[in-house]
Amino acid sequence: MDFLDEGEYVTRREAMVTTQIMQRGILEKRLLDAMRTVPRHLFVPKGYRRYAYSDHPLPIGEGQTISQPYMVALMTNLLELKGGENVLEIGTGSGYQAAVLAHLVREVHTVEIIPEVAENARKILKNLGYANVFLHIGDGSFGWPECAPYDGIIVTAAARETPKGLLEQLKPTGCLVIPTGGPSLQHIEKWTRERGEWVSESILAVSFVPLRGAEGWTRDEWPI
Ligand code: SAH
Repeated sequence: MDFLDEGEYVTRREAMVTTQIMQRGILEKRLLDAMRTVPRHLFVPKGYRRYAYSDHPLPIGEGQTISQPYMVALMTNLLELKGGENVLEIGTGSGYQAAVLAHLVREVHTVEIIPEVAENARKILKNLGYANVFLHIGDGSFGWPECAPYDGIIVTAAARETPKGLLEQLKPTGCLVIPTGGPSLQHIEKWTRERGEWVSESILAVSFVPLRGAEGWTRDEWPI
């Protein structure tokens, strides 16, 4: 089987944090500690475990991917979490990003539109004992108003443009991090409120799978 010794995973995880995250300028202590702790190899399909700490995304089935470790670090860092927050993630995927957030905040709500993907993530998060992650199955392209308001919202699939409903589910001090754009080009945007208005800043060109659902891309527009 494609498994390594537990110690080897720890070594690779430490190297991932140093070379992929810290050396690229992300030095947020609590975040680095969370990424040193979460066993990323348990969030990828068994055959990919030895690649779990490599510097790229990996397939997780159903055409979806677990994001590159640096992308998880970058987007989480943009949320400027201090502890005690209520955070929403749209696009649970493997559950890895939700697990990282679980170390940093009080409560994580995460929404996944593909039931099989959601059930897989639920199993992994449960086995690892993440009691502050609440997984919801459904279309998160409108956010998840039932558990609002949020201090932070992170979207891990590419939206055509920022669904305005998401901003309404944030506290006035809240922050939204979302990739927007189409099949060929997307940017991470960070939204915060300044003098009573939501304003966005474009951070970095990226490549994500499409956001589906009512506010998302159709398969005709963006097949994968
Ligand atoms: N954050 C994930 C990676 C996400 S991949 C991780 O850590 O592994 C993007 C995920 O978003 C996919 O699983 C996809 O099914 C999901 N998704 C796409 N559109 C969605 C929508 N409208 N609502 C909820 N989830 C959605």
